[in-house]
Amino acid sequence: MSSLSLRAPIEEIPFISAAWRRKLSILGIKTVEDLLYHFPFRYEDFSQFKKISALGIGEVVTIRGVVEELKTKQARNRRMSISEMYIKDETGTIKAVWFNLAGPLKYASRGRFIQISGKTSLSKTNELQFQHPNFELLSKENALSLKNSQTNSFSTGSLIAIYPETKGLTSFWLRKTIKQLLELVQLEEFLPEKILGEADLPLLEDALWGIHFPESIEETAEAKRRFAFEKMLLFQLKALSIKAAWDKNKAPKIKFNQKLIRNFVASLPFSLTDAQKKSAWQIIRDLEKNIPMNRLLEGDVGSGKTVVAAMAILATISNRFQAAFLAPTEILAIQHYEGIANLFEKLPYKSALLTGTKAQIGKESVDKKELKKELSEGKIDFVVGTHALLQDTIAFKKLGLVSIDEQHRFGVKQRAYLQQETLGVKDGVASKIPHLLTMTATPIPRTLSLALFGNLDLSIINEYPKGRKKIITKVVSAKNREQVYLFIKQEIKKGRQIFLIYPLVEESSKISQVKAATEEIEKLQKGAFSQFKLKLLHGKMKAKEKEAVMASFKKKKFDILVATSVVEVGIDIPNASVMVIEGAERFGLAQLHQFRGRVGRGEHQSYCFLITSDTAPDSTRRLAVLEKTNDGFVIAQEDMKLRGPGQFMGLAQSGVPDIAMESLTDVNLIQLARTNAQELLTSDASLRALPLLKEKLDKLNSQVHWE
Ligand code: ADP
Ligand code: MG
Repeated sequence: MSSLSLRAPIEEIPFISAAWRRKLSILGIKTVEDLLYHFPFRYEDFSQFKKISALGIGEVVTIRGVVEELKTKQARNRRMSISEMYIKDETGTIKAVWFNLAGPLKYASRGRFIQISGKTSLSKTNELQFQHPNFELLSKENALSLKNSQTNSFSTGSLIAIYPETKGLTSFWLRKTIKQLLELVQLEEFLPEKILGEADLPLLEDALWGIHFPESIEETAEAKRRFAFEKMLLFQLKALSIKAAWDKNKAPKIKFNQKLIRNFVASLPFSLTDAQKKSAWQIIRDLEKNIPMNRLLEGDVGSGKTVVAAMAILATISNRFQAAFLAPTEILAIQHYEGIANLFEKLPYKSALLTGTKAQIGKESVDKKELKKELSEGKIDFVVGTHALLQDTIAFKKLGLVSIDEQHRFGVKQRAYLQQETLGVKDGVASKIPHLLTMTATPIPRTLSLALFGNLDLSIINEYPKGRKKIITKVVSAKNREQVYLFIKQEIKKGRQIFLIYPLVEESSKISQVKAATEEIEKLQKGAFSQFKLKLLHGKMKAKEKEAVMASFKKKKFDILVATSVVEVGIDIPNASVMVIEGAERFGLAQLHQFRGRVGRGEHQSYCFLITSDTAPDSTRRLAVLEKTNDGFVIAQEDMKLRGPGQFMGLAQSGVPDIAMESLTDVNLIQLARTNAQELLTSDASLRALPLLKEKLDKLNSQVHWE
């Protein structure tokens, strides 16, 4: 029989019926390779063999014996059958019970050799038994002659792979099928021998056997390491080739006007931190090149990214190019607009603001049409806006820089949109695209950034401005909420303002969310905070309404903002000194850290209270990390450790496969993949000598899209 290749569609696998094929295709398993790369998520360890007489209660073991008796009866409700078997070895007899397994058991007749793996328990009649154990019939020769690990089994007697059981695919079926497939398929190694050797990785064939049918946990770890490396290498190859392709683009050169930038920095009401200076300098150097910048500016909430972006904008517009600044929400766009306009107050530039509901040139509201016209004629130097800037009715004359705040809140396509050549600069011969600066307040450790955004250059602001007070954070049990309220009252009397965050379930209907939030605020207004002014901000309010609430909070028109977790990242309310988050246990550390970043922006000592419901005592320990540190990078690392990189900040949607995800914390592996990818591409940019690897890369390229 001819062997199957990894590429073969599952239709060519002779022993999979149409019904199973359908189930597989629902899971996206289309080829032999997809099926072999459908990995278990855990293992059951049945490698311990015992004689029947030596068994105790609650043991996870394997026994081997002869079927003495098998009886199947229909249970009273007719829907269920119960099979009872007695198995005997030379030391004793034990019972095994199964439900609804009469079919497969019918071959297990008296006298057959059988191997059973499961957990022992006591029956109602105090009899030691196996309930619904795995079983495999053995040939007489196997049963008598083979060593324990050498049976041809796939459900008993060893480490047994357990797969996510979705869409009716059982682990039993998967093991059986994958085993047959592994025996049949022709496995071609696609990683160069040199890399395998240097990185000390198992061959593809060994790794596949090792992950599906391991003989030891060490073997599964080796296999996982190989698959993680494999994926990471492909990711790096992809990232580096995207970067190489990107670097072929042309961008306008933005000359560095030292005097202007120096004067600007001197005009600031504060001095820049070293990290801000370094980042700004990296950006300015990028802008001077005729290759478009593609840089991610990463820095914790409040680390001062905006002023760095403002310097990039200033450099650009002083060179007579236009700049666009994108923010994910209207509130943020307005804040940035006002902030930057403020910084550029004494400079001769024309600015504009465009959101879903607002069009403004300078300080005046204008017609959208007029704004668009002036943009396209190059009369506006820089524009701040929301998604509203991403429409094809918007045209620029000489767009030199696009910067995007909270880049992850925009889709890949949206991020790419403003960079189309049509929007860029055409100066006769070559068309150019604008420089790109993206920003994120999600502190991701450098290696992880390398793994995920390997095509971007990275600037990290890893320090807060001097004199910024540490936010004092306390985890408080719900039963001590009154003490927090007492504290809040004192703060308000000192003139401070408060955020009260009531995270509501996102999926709940609009009406019930609004109702819950409204009831909550009424209760607070009548109860604990009757002397104070409260206002509500919830996710279902119109942008205009939200903005009005935020604006009046900023103007100190009321004391307590009750919000349903929609207070935008980046909102600047310097007078707010306390942030209370109810139900804090429902959030990840990194997310809570972001919430809390909304206080501590002014001169006042700020506080964050994380209120945990009394039913979640364990969360106190997890949340204690936030009491100890204000360093977003440390928190990110911890969050990743606790919840796994997949859960961490929604990376699960990033297209990184689980197996690679697990190893995202493996710094050495990432570094190794990076170096190897670089070497491979340097010696053979189109991977001509490695067609199999190239094929894998092409597949990844067609599946996962990045900026
Ligand atoms: P983020 O990185 O979260 O976007 P912002 O740019 O909004 O942070 O800055 C937060 C606050 O810190 C702003 O009020 C800003 O004016 C101020 N700020 C920025 N840099 C400094 C600095 N070097 N010294 C003091 N304050 C600064
Ligand atoms: Mg910001």
